[in-house]
Amino acid sequence: MISRTFKKRVMVTGGAGFLGSHLCDRLLREGCEVLCVDNYYTGSRQNITHLLNSPSFEAIRHDVTFPLYVEVDEIYNLACPASPIHYQRDPVQTTKTSVHGAINMLGLAKRLGVRIFQASTSEVYGDPAIHPQPETYWGNVNPIGPRSCYDEGKRCAETLFFDYHRQHGLSIKVARIFNTYGPRMHPNDGRVVSNFIMQALRGEPITIYGEGQQTRSFCYVDDLIEGFLRFMESEAAHTGPLNLGNPGEFTILELAETVLRLTRSSSRLEFKPLPQDDPRQRQPDISHARALLNWTPTLSLEEGLDRTIAYFRALVS
Ligand code: NAD
Ligand code: UDP
Ligand code: UDP
Repeated sequence: MISRTFKKRVMVTGGAGFLGSHLCDRLLREGCEVLCVDNYYTGSRQNITHLLNSPSFEAIRHDVTFPLYVEVDEIYNLACPASPIHYQRDPVQTTKTSVHGAINMLGLAKRLGVRIFQASTSEVYGDPAIHPQPETYWGNVNPIGPRSCYDEGKRCAETLFFDYHRQHGLSIKVARIFNTYGPRMHPNDGRVVSNFIMQALRGEPITIYGEGQQTRSFCYVDDLIEGFLRFMESEAAHTGPLNLGNPGEFTILELAETVLRLTRSSSRLEFKPLPQDDPRQRQPDISHARALLNWTPTLSLEEGLDRTIAYFRALVS
């Protein structure tokens, strides 16, 4: 007689992407059945190849801007290109993915009566006028600039999540994710961590935009995913928006110097113009996540960079 135990069926949109594939890994380790939904716009099958033999894993090619009828117990909505190079390639599609994608996934969650998590972003704060940014800050976003398709798309998705919550009683979890890095980041997506590591490994100049005095905080992917799960499992009353990220703040110049040291690279620094609307400072205030979830990132920037460098080294060799 085969013994059957009920497994939670969890859907991850954007599951073949950087964060999504790590989330799929982790959910499978937790004993869930995982349905990965992705149109492979920026994600890749390589990110999930190691999962394809698992009987608890299924991947479907689907664009979330179209309706989706499946039966699951929980939804993580991550589908959306995340780096400026990718989201500015087809800005209209970026807004559609955030907005129509949210409507469809919320409609699905509503029909099934299941909890839904939204991967929102620190970009909803725009170029912040206050620092660090608490969740109560409403942001300083340009509605018509080149980053707006992403920032405003994500803001509208948040609006939809809260309206489905208020209007239809849906259980929502809205996380505002700050810069995250780790293995399976895209090597060519123009993000600062992947750029600097690839440039250092290839002995190419390290491209610093502006004077490198702008700051970012970098969270290692495993720490972030731990935050996702704790948030998803927290009481229904905790809807967010909840900042998730690593509050350690570094200038871009400091990051460049650390990458050079860890890779033992002799690449030189090359200063380039600062892109339009580039936020000067960004650091999460994670006091709510600490208090509600008893969560805090554990990996130092150096340890996280070491693991990420090992991944990129294997890619380039
Ligand atoms: P990613 O580009 O690696 O992953 C996004 C995934 O979504 C890809 O697999 C892509 O193919 C898929 N996708 C895009 N459009 C789709 C569509 N219309 N239908 C179905 N799938 C689609 O990016 P990531 O870094 O893993 O980001 C995942 C989520 O987290 C995104 O929503 C992003 O906005 C958010 N986020 C990420 C960061 C970060 O630092 N990585 C920071 C803030 C927010
Ligand atoms: N939707 C979906 N899967 C479902 C249920 C709904 O993709 O299982 C989509 C549906 O196409 C709709 C959207 O989600 O356009 C919003 O659904 P909702 O029920 O909120 O609104 P309505 O159907 O009234 O427009
Ligand atoms: N940046 C840089 N050199 C690069 C890529 C990015 O100096 O090769 C800077 C960029 O201008 C920004 C910061 O690094 O100030 C973080 O950029 P990223 O695109 O990674 O993230 P975001 O701006 O979305 O936080």
